[in-house]
Amino acid sequence: MTKSSFVQVAIPVPLVGQLDYQWTKSGPPPSLGCRVRVPLGRREKIGIVTCHIDKPSLDSSRIREILETLDTEPVLNTELFDLLCWCAKYYHHPLGEVLTHALPTLLRQGRPAQSSEKFWELTKTGRALSSEDYLGKLQIRVIDLLRRCDQISAQELLDAGIKGSVLNRMAARGWAKYLEKPCQMKSVTKPIESPFELNVEQQNCVSAITDAAESYAAYLLQGVTGSGKTEVYMHLISNQLHFGRQSLLLVPEIGLTPQLLKRLENRFGTCLAVMHSGLTAAERLEAWRATRSGEAKIILGTRSAIFAPLVNAGLIIVDEEHDASYKQQDGFKYSARDLAVLRARGLNIPVLLASATPSLESIHNVTHGRYKELRMDDQIGLAGKPTIQIIDMNVHAERHGLSTPLITAIERHLSLDQQVLLFINRRGFAPVLLCTECGTVEECDQCDARMTLHARIGQLWCHHCGLTRSLTWGCSICATERIAVGAGTQRITDELQALFPEIKIARLDKDIASNKGSLESILADVTHGETQIIVGTQMLAKGHDFPNVTLVGVLSADQGLFGTDFRCSEKLGQTLLQVAGRAGRRDQPGEVFIQSHYPSHPLLTTLVQQDYDAFGQLALKERKAAAWPPFSYLIVWRAEAINKKTAHAFLERIASTARNMTDSIKILGPAAPSMEKRGNRFRAQLLFQHNSRKTLHDLTSNMLLLVRDWPQARRIRWSIDVDPAEL
Ligand code: ADP
Ligand code: ZN
Repeated sequence: MTKSSFVQVAIPVPLVGQLDYQWTKSGPPPSLGCRVRVPLGRREKIGIVTCHIDKPSLDSSRIREILETLDTEPVLNTELFDLLCWCAKYYHHPLGEVLTHALPTLLRQGRPAQSSEKFWELTKTGRALSSEDYLGKLQIRVIDLLRRCDQISAQELLDAGIKGSVLNRMAARGWAKYLEKPCQMKSVTKPIESPFELNVEQQNCVSAITDAAESYAAYLLQGVTGSGKTEVYMHLISNQLHFGRQSLLLVPEIGLTPQLLKRLENRFGTCLAVMHSGLTAAERLEAWRATRSGEAKIILGTRSAIFAPLVNAGLIIVDEEHDASYKQQDGFKYSARDLAVLRARGLNIPVLLASATPSLESIHNVTHGRYKELRMDDQIGLAGKPTIQIIDMNVHAERHGLSTPLITAIERHLSLDQQVLLFINRRGFAPVLLCTECGTVEECDQCDARMTLHARIGQLWCHHCGLTRSLTWGCSICATERIAVGAGTQRITDELQALFPEIKIARLDKDIASNKGSLESILADVTHGETQIIVGTQMLAKGHDFPNVTLVGVLSADQGLFGTDFRCSEKLGQTLLQVAGRAGRRDQPGEVFIQSHYPSHPLLTTLVQQDYDAFGQLALKERKAAAWPPFSYLIVWRAEAINKKTAHAFLERIASTARNMTDSIKILGPAAPSMEKRGNRFRAQLLFQHNSRKTLHDLTSNMLLLVRDWPQARRIRWSIDVDPAEL
């Protein structure tokens, strides 16, 4: 009998940490980072080996056996494994969930990590067969084919009409056998585009990073839109390719920036793996395998690609590093931007964070010497920066959200055959149904939110919980005919269409983008100039390159000035400059109009000067005065329950327990978040703030040990958010 050894296995179920199991099969137990199938209760789970132990925590007769090991080599190598273990601690999230988060779904379900193909060949006996032997027609064909080619893949044989059953029968008689070989990437295309010669600013960036490319360093590239950042990335990637090393390029969104993918493909051919949420499970697995085998040299992905199984990494780039989508908002709430820096340090390679409007955190890191600053202040080939003007909405007449000066400007640009882009910060500006008689606004029953009017399809939607209701114009209280107020993308589009009946107008928002084909065709129509006006939300700020847009209108800046979140003004500045960056082309500078009821607000006036540095310093000063990050650290506990009291009582208990443990940490709340009720559940949050990360984390760990044992904790939904992106 083999001697048993004990291992700890992390299983992806909430609250359960690692469990002990024993390995009773022959050979040594599976290595750390390998997947194993284990019994849990009456079910079976796939977990990951995290530790070999001499002595189990329970009596060894009570330790259950590992049923099967799925990997001969770890699916998580030491580097990634260590990073994930760090994440579990830092984000206070169960290790099993963190580890499996880094794997494609199919691997979580037990698919093989290596992709291999069966190749058939004849055995000696098979080759010696002659026509005198009793053979079937198909068998004769197989023998014929294999005599000519030595080895043929099962797929090719199938294509030739030979089924696996025929081959298996021949194998059973000892005539044929198969061997497994790793798959090669399918089609290989060659690059069709050569690089640009870099300008001086670009060259300086590339040299700064390549000169020190052999070890960890973090860079923050602040480069205005169109300054040629992407070209810099491609040069850096190309340098890495030269050494056979992988580059990881993170972007906020891929579906919205098809141009980037195209540019990379044209430049580098298909040594590219793409990882984002729009892929099928099989495509994700394929990208994962290509990365791990080292075949993929460039990995382009969104947030979760930070966990790509890099094997020979040389560089990590985070494009639009300020973008909020790098923070995962539910489940395992990590920041891919922050992890990019950490991972680069672990790999001892450079990391480049880049943006036209860097986050205040990153600017702060430059000030403190943690990141090196690189700059690109000039747009390539453009006729200069756009001019930005604020339209005072207190003095100008408006028609459904469009002021007279803006309408006049639109007319002017259209008459010159140029394109116009209109940006709506839709949140809070969606059209709602208002009864002018009794003053009620139609609201969602399940959330603290107003129902949004979708007049064309005759429905009211709640954009928070998805509740829909069919549209009736009469008020349910006083039966008066109600009116639609507020300007959503749909309404502005209709209004514009009425003003400019001849013009093709496109709308770009979440509803449209969820339909993959229509998004692509809309973008194509804009690029080809068929569409002259584009109306859209935040999505417009995300890296499109519309060459003929000369006018950008921001329909309202005001929400950003008076929001409740401490990141509100930072976000406003970033969004405004990002959309403004879409204006202008080679022969003509762009014009930007921002409508506001507060035209002399200091944040707006600095933005008009397009001085992001001054804006950043102003916003950082605000943060410092209030001791918000980056001048302190935050951890939020959130809870939600059907009953408001239950959620608050839970957090109240956490707050008072914590106060008994320490008096140095600032504890705010429990309080209701900006939307308290959502999907019929009440939400509450409790904020912990301190200027020492360690103090804050130690308290959180200690609290968790207690809280997990509270019966209360099993009855409500709760979670911890470290370094929250939104409050
Ligand atoms: P960013 O990523 O900073 O917005 P891009 O890299 O997309 O800027 O560059 C803007 C435009 O300038 C693109 O059309 C790109 O092809 C072009 N471009 C970039 N670098 C150069 C260069 N060195 N010479 C000529 N054109 C360039
Ligand atoms: Zn709702």
